[in-house]
Amino acid sequence: MKKVILTGDRPTGRMHLGHYFGSLKNRVKLQDEYDTYILIADVQALTDNFEHPEKIRSNIREIALDYLAAGINPDKTHILIQSKIPEIAEMTVYLSNLVTVSRLFRNPTTKAEVAQKKHIFGNEGESITYGFLGYPVSQSADLTCFDCDICPVGDDQAPHLEQAREIVRKFNSIYGPTLKEPQTVLSTTPRIKGLDGNEKMGKSLGNAIYLADDEEAITKKIMGAITDTNKIKKDDPADPEKCMVYYYHKLIDNPNLATVCQECQKGSRGCVACKKELIKVMLEFLKPIQEKRHYYEQHPELVDKILNDGTQKARKKAQEVMKRVRKNMQIDYDFIDK
Ligand code: SF4
Repeated sequence: MKKVILTGDRPTGRMHLGHYFGSLKNRVKLQDEYDTYILIADVQALTDNFEHPEKIRSNIREIALDYLAAGINPDKTHILIQSKIPEIAEMTVYLSNLVTVSRLFRNPTTKAEVAQKKHIFGNEGESITYGFLGYPVSQSADLTCFDCDICPVGDDQAPHLEQAREIVRKFNSIYGPTLKEPQTVLSTTPRIKGLDGNEKMGKSLGNAIYLADDEEAITKKIMGAITDTNKIKKDDPADPEKCMVYYYHKLIDNPNLATVCQECQKGSRGCVACKKELIKVMLEFLKPIQEKRHYYEQHPELVDKILNDGTQKARKKAQEVMKRVRKNMQIDYDFIDK
């Protein structure tokens, strides 16, 4: 039996190179080795987008297109929509009894997010909602509903996983061995920097290249990328390690990388020419991804079927787990079910 791995994303926007190199590429590899579930976390996205449900809805298909374009194979991976698995909501309610409000407030990831989202939660977090605070409980339900063995996360999400493990242990200590305790595996894939040199590529930061960006958008973004600020004139020598253009040449494996580096250091390469070369290599790199995406864009009925099949298979698994949960919690009222 293959081990189960669960990953997922909030459908709040299209996916960019940060997602591709930070997780998608790795998921494509893992799907051969594991029984893989990818959760489109629309319920969780609503915790801080509850006033904009249209944004979530419109991005469900976009994110599915990005998965398929990047190489996620629906024959190997269940792609599922969170809100269509009511067992997750039921599990969330049961698990919410097993964690205190003060423990949820102490979660470092929650604290950091509240500080980042002052426009939603107020300067002192006075407007924090019950749903947002309970996000780690809902994540625990995602993991336990599919008997997840492994959940790869970035270090920023590790506290949520630790909280999930605590909740599972508590559940099992009260109701007997029922839920699988997921193992946290810290992702070894790098966090991808933005074109502006920011440590993180992000939609809100405006420094991202999207998998679906066209030539015009890519050209504009790369021409505006940050280079070594000490290089003033075209023939000034520069340090490629201080340049985001070089960073991206490296990231997408430009076969001409050694020459880019040497010419930059010698001052025999101008930044405009260097950026133009990166645009060309970037378009080549994205070509097969975009061709696949285009194919699925032209066949929306296929995407719908993939989402439906993945969700139905995942639901079957969640129903099995929930049967076990209800039995051990002594709320399997068979006389009602009959
Ligand atoms: Fe960056 Fe290329 Fe300019 Fe060097 S020549 S600073 S690598 S854009």
